[in-house]
Amino acid sequence: MTTRQEILAWCDETLQAAAYKDYAPNGLQVEGREEVAKIVTSVTASKAAIDFAVAEHADMLLVHHGMFWKSEPLTITGWKKARIETLLKHQINMVGYHLPLDGHAELGNNAQLAKQLGWQTEACFGEQNLLNIGSTAQVQTLAQFADGLESVLRRKPLVIGDLDKQIKRVAWCTGGAQGFFQEAIEAGADVYVTGEVSEAQYHLSNETGVAFVGAGHHATERYGVRVLGDALAHRFGVQVCHFDENNPV
Ligand SMILES: [Zn+2]
Repeated sequence: MTTRQEILAWCDETLQAAAYKDYAPNGLQVEGREEVAKIVTSVTASKAAIDFAVAEHADMLLVHHGMFWKSEPLTITGWKKARIETLLKHQINMVGYHLPLDGHAELGNNAQLAKQLGWQTEACFGEQNLLNIGSTAQVQTLAQFADGLESVLRRKPLVIGDLDKQIKRVAWCTGGAQGFFQEAIEAGADVYVTGEVSEAQYHLSNETGVAFVGAGHHATERYGVRVLGDALAHRFGVQVCHFDENNPV
């Protein structure tokens, strides 16, 4: 039998969790039973993911987006009470890794997005090294680049820029990283890919000629937690299954 502690220690060390300054606690967020035979992975510790973990008789729900964000109220009421109540009732450990699971060079969301799209990573830079720059497999137009993203991520990306523009250098950071667009421009990218978009990026793209693609927060962060789960299955022999939901954001 594998213990929760063995899994947490392995994840903490592998992901170098202590090296990141984060907005939420990394590691164990809600304590369940001590022994772990089955893990469910999910991008977010949503009610749907928790209900799935209950139905699967999982001992651990492993996520990228847990709970207890700095911006949230501290009280355990409403939807948060409901989530925690279900976890406690079924003794399911809820374990979240946020930035450590974005940044890891192999298991991370950034690395896995590049792998899915066939991009070659050349360097990591910016805040906590969370930005990446590299090259696409071949020079293509922005329209072709966007089509490639759509077919891999199964979601139509929001594209800002000249669709005939030639794309070779790509910068990226999964999730809600639209605020890093300026740094991507300065790094010499032809296009910047992240999950979300805000009003300002439209103008920045227009005025600099660097294309911007909002490919979906969920869609760009679907892969890290899966490969982390698969790595745990391989390392500890635990059963792992993946939950996904059709999140359009
Ligand atoms: Zn995220």
